[in-house]
Amino acid sequence: MLGIFGGSGFYELLDNLEEVEVGTPFGLPSDKFMVGEFCGRKVAFLPRHGRGHKIPPHKVPYQANLWAMKELGVTKIISPCAVGSLRRDIAPGTFVICDSYFDRTRGRIDTFFEGPDVRHMTSVDPYCESLRQTAITACKKLNVPVVERGTIVVINGPRFSTIAESKFFSTFADVIGMTAYPEVSLANELGISIANISLATDFDAWSHDEKDIKESSAQEIIATFNKNIDNVKRVIFEIIKNADMNECPRCKEKVIQSKFN
Ligand SMILES: [Zn+2]
Repeated sequence: MLGIFGGSGFYELLDNLEEVEVGTPFGLPSDKFMVGEFCGRKVAFLPRHGRGHKIPPHKVPYQANLWAMKELGVTKIISPCAVGSLRRDIAPGTFVICDSYFDRTRGRIDTFFEGPDVRHMTSVDPYCESLRQTAITACKKLNVPVVERGTIVVINGPRFSTIAESKFFSTFADVIGMTAYPEVSLANELGISIANISLATDFDAWSHDEKDIKESSAQEIIATFNKNIDNVKRVIFEIIKNADMNECPRCKEKVIQSKFN
């Protein structure tokens, strides 16, 4: 089954739609799941911020969300998120299919292994290459501007970055968001393949000092955000149609037992 972090507006295309509540040892997920079928494939949608967007990024129950996905039988996750662009050539409206992340969050529980079963996990390829390629192909087919790899820096929020922070991040990352971590590491620990789709909404704070980049107005940001939602919906359903539903052997072997056990 495919799992998707996405809220209302995504369900109308599904057959046999069903609302499912899943309890976990880590509490309740952000909301009830909407489970249904598209082109004969089972999909489960979960609004990351809950219905009505009531949960801020630093309070999303990441552990419960990922555990519940596993419980439902999800083997692959598509994880779209709104981001700021850290690069001139990533214009608002561009989708970046990230292949790495840089964690700048704090206080979020980012593991299921709290002992006595001590485990470590590789993070050299956190996003599933095969699912990434499916996402890239979908964007190209639908003429959505796409950047095929990139690093997302994940900040704690809810505040945005200062100009100094943003300039520093732009030396090593391409986009900036608030929710991609620990979603990715928790999925990796559960052996679930995950692909991130970063939806560039505006240029981040670094652009404030650049005379030739005009700051987006609130209306422009909302217009881009809405266009991105529309595009990501089309991309997601294209991915659902084409994703290889066999489990990815690479994604299943990322967790390793501690050598000291
Ligand atoms: Zn994989």
